[in-house]
Amino acid sequence: MPDFARFRAKHGSLDAQSAEATASIFHVDMDAFFVSVELLERPELRGKPVVVGGRPDQRGVVSAASYEARKYGIHSAMPLRTASRLCPHAIFLDGHHEKYSEWSDRVAAILANFSPIVEMVSIDEAYLDLAGTERLHGPALAAADKLLRTITRKTALPCSGGLATTRLVAKVASDQAKPRGLVWVPAGSEQRFLAPLPVRKIPGIGEVTERALRALGIEIVEQITAIPQGIRYRCGAEIHLAQSHLWRGH
Ligand SMILES: [Mg+2]
Repeated sequence: MPDFARFRAKHGSLDAQSAEATASIFHVDMDAFFVSVELLERPELRGKPVVVGGRPDQRGVVSAASYEARKYGIHSAMPLRTASRLCPHAIFLDGHHEKYSEWSDRVAAILANFSPIVEMVSIDEAYLDLAGTERLHGPALAAADKLLRTITRKTALPCSGGLATTRLVAKVASDQAKPRGLVWVPAGSEQRFLAPLPVRKIPGIGEVTERALRALGIEIVEQITAIPQGIRYRCGAEIHLAQSHLWRGH
């Protein structure tokens, strides 16, 4: 994939970026993708707690949950039985992966109209570089907005996006934007944007690191960045890991 290689070469790390970096990295993420695709054929289920993955009495796990189902604590990778215990009136649907791939291809085709540099990172999310596309689509923020509207108009599938200077910040931004939103983090405001967020919002910080950080009294990103260098070393691997996730991008 030459485009992918180019993307990495250009945006591999924060250090490599020039001072006049602009927010042109756009992370697009489909909202509750598998559920949204199923709802195209079952519009009567809109607004209801819907779980995709199988029957509630099966041994499998949840592969997607609607936002209404998430309110009951249901999330992907949770056993179906647990999900049905949390929300007995949820509607459980089987997954149809070929169908999701087809819709994913349709979304990818739309993305390709907005930038020559598109990296699909999973079936329902992608990074685009919107730098240099101004003549076709206007400034990056306008292009990002137009892109999300185009996806929704052409596929009727809800999606969200994050526009920032790095992949990491763009990903966090799209997550904050959900559902059906767009969050723009202008160049220079990354730290202000990340500071109040719970550490878990940073991709790469999982349950284990979150717990280790909490044991040190650290719950939000600002606290990681506020730790003086000397203390940081004594606190060991967790903070180092958290900081490298923060400032390296990925
Ligand atoms: Mg998604």
